[in-house]
Parts: sequence; structure tokens; C-alpha cells
Amino acid sequence: MPGFEIFGDEERKEVQDVLDSGILFRYGFDQARNNHWKARDFEKELAEKIGSGYCHLCSSGTAALSVALAACGVGTGDEVIVPPFTFVATVEAVMSAGAVPVFADIDETLCLDPESLEKAMTPRTKAVLVVHMCGSMAEIDRIRAFCDQKGIVLMEDACQALGGSFNGKHLGTFGKVGCFSFDPVKTVTCGEGGGVVTDDPKIYEIADAYGDHGHDHVGDDRGAEGHAIMGVNYRISELNAAVGLAQLRKLDRMVEIQRTHKGALKEALGRIPGLEFRKIPDEEGDSATFLSFFLPDEATAVKASGELAAAGVDGCFYWYSNNWHYIRQWDHILGLKSAAPLPVTLFETRPDYEKLNLAQSDGIMSRAISMLIKLSWSQDEIAQRIDKMTAVLRPYF
Ligand SMILES: *Cc1c(COP(=O)(O)O)cnc(C)c1O
Repeated sequence: MPGFEIFGDEERKEVQDVLDSGILFRYGFDQARNNHWKARDFEKELAEKIGSGYCHLCSSGTAALSVALAACGVGTGDEVIVPPFTFVATVEAVMSAGAVPVFADIDETLCLDPESLEKAMTPRTKAVLVVHMCGSMAEIDRIRAFCDQKGIVLMEDACQALGGSFNGKHLGTFGKVGCFSFDPVKTVTCGEGGGVVTDDPKIYEIADAYGDHGHDHVGDDRGAEGHAIMGVNYRISELNAAVGLAQLRKLDRMVEIQRTHKGALKEALGRIPGLEFRKIPDEEGDSATFLSFFLPDEATAVKASGELAAAGVDGCFYWYSNNWHYIRQWDHILGLKSAAPLPVTLFETRPDYEKLNLAQSDGIMSRAISMLIKLSWSQDEIAQRIDKMTAVLRPYF
């Protein structure tokens, strides 16, 4: 997954352009910038690449989620259905919008289970925020059908899914908005950055204004621009955008390498009778950043995960006990431990997270291990990895 493995002259050149012009701001300074518009170019190329009408870059994936929520009109008093397996940012963004995250179960895709949505619905449900975890996808067609039928908004957190698709359509383009992250460990990285994509010009317009204090970006006198709505500063800088632009141009190559590496590992481990992999609704659209598989139960998964580490198989994650990606350790979020008083409705409708029953998700996550696929592996390293992993895993089946 990490694009930082392949930084090169391409990134250097884009950054140099920015430094030479002296303009780190993404807007204005038309004369001084020598025609370098890194953020604008990145937005255009990303939208084209994934087949989306519009893209607005932000300072992070978390900021992109906040911008997307604002643009979809999600706020105080609304409920948003989210999965319990995601990076905490998804949940934080919903809460900071003043909305209430309502957790629904995941299935073997490691993403929201379309079957779990109905019982999470209430009259306050405004949106489903599906997260395409670990480079692959949810049953996005079924989830979209559910949202259409209920008349609620579908939003996609595709922060981990750049380069992934479902039936040929890029992840992040199924809902009203899709969000991407370019943080230091994502497939395409620019240090810190994110993007909101949409086909809806109105949503784009709000996102573009909200992420920059409400500026409508009409005309070339920044001081005289209109401000139809209030906003914040979630802008990306030209320096970050420059790195991201060069990285984006390497995306196809990255995904190709990941798929080859993952294919070799999956084929070899698939020879262990009984070992099951994560369900991938469209194998061809897997961006292949992770290889996820299931052990028979929690005890064997804990044991195998320790043994893999001891055998030198690095990059294996047992998310079930991880502090940031699975709900079990989110005591700060479940306890609503806020630095300042909570938005009133979030406080008043204070969800009873103590009573959450996510037995299905627990059952799946307690058995799952995910291994990060690296771009830099040699054939030799892959062969050794296969040997070590087979030796550890085979006895459990
Ligand atoms: C990385 C990530 C985010 C947040 O992105 P940042 O750029 O780190 O703010 C949100 N959701 C998911 C699923 C992520 O993996």
C-alpha cells in the first residue's frame, strides 16, 4: 500500500516547481506561480482517473470526510450508519459534524453488511457511510440499492481504496460523495492530504466553499469573493499537492505490483486446505493493498498472529485488538470523552454504546489477520514469506 516506497525524481520535480515559484497557496497569485497549479491539476487528474465529475482536495482524509458530511447536509441531530471496523477518523468526522454514529455489523467482506443496515435505521438516519477497508470493497451495489430504496444518502470512505473498483466502476464513485486519504501510509501519499469526489455540481460547490472559509472562488480578487456559507480551513498546500500529483501518476503501476505480489501469496496459501480469505465481491477490482485471511477462531488467530511476527513475517495486523481500527478499544469514542462540551443533540441523544451488540463483527474480526502488501518485495522475499507463513498457518487447519 505505501506509496512512500517509490518516491523518486517525479515527486522531486513537482515539488521543485512549487519552490521555484515561491507560491505555496493553492489559490490566486496567477502571475507569480509560473502556471503551476498543483492542487488544481491533482483534482483534475484524480477525477479523470476514477471517473468522477468533480474532486475537491483537502488537508487530510479526515478533513475530506468532514467536508463531505457538510456538503451532504449531515449535521446536528442526524444519524449516520457506520461500520465498527474502520480507522477512527470515520467516526470522529461524524461526531464532529454533530451527528450520531450508529454502528452496524460487517460481514466477511470486512465492510458493512447490507443485511445489517435495516436494523440500524431510525427516523433520524440521514446517511450510510460505508468504508472500503484494506484496499477492497463492500457489497456496494446492494448497499446502494438499500440507500436508494430508503431515500437516504450513500457516502463512501474510500480512504484505503484508491485504485479499487467494483464491476469496473471506481470505489468512491457509487455514493453521493466519496472520500480519499493521501496520508503518509496510504497507497498514494502526499504527506497529509485528502480528496472529496462527487458527480453532483452542487455538492462540489459546497465542498469547495466549506473547505476554504466559505470562499465561492468566483473572480480573481480573493478579498472580494462571496461567502454564501460558513466554512473552515481544510485546504491542501501546493507542496503536498505536488507530491500527490506525481504519486497519482504512479497509481496504476503500484496497483499492478500489489496485485502480482498478492496473487503469488494467495495462490500459495490457498493450498492450505480450509484456509479462507476475506470475501471480495469483485476480485478484479481489488487494489490488493492487503491480504486478509481467517483462522478457525479467536484463540488460534491470536496465536498465529504472534507466531507470524516471531517468524519475521512483518506487516501482519490483528485488528481485533488494535487500538485504532476496531471498536473494541475505542473507549474514548464510546465513552464520548470530549475535550469540550459535546454538540447538544449528540449529548442529548447520547447513544448507549455500552449496550452495543456487534457479535457478528466480533466473530469475524476475532479470526481475521491482514497482511500489508509491500511494493518493494523481491521474488526471493515473497518466496520466503510464503514458506514462513505456510509453516505457521498449516497446523491450524
Ligand atoms: C486513513 C483513513 C482515514 C483518514 O485519513 P487521514 O488522511 O489520515 O486523515 C479515514 N478513513 C479511513 C478508512 C482511513 O484509512
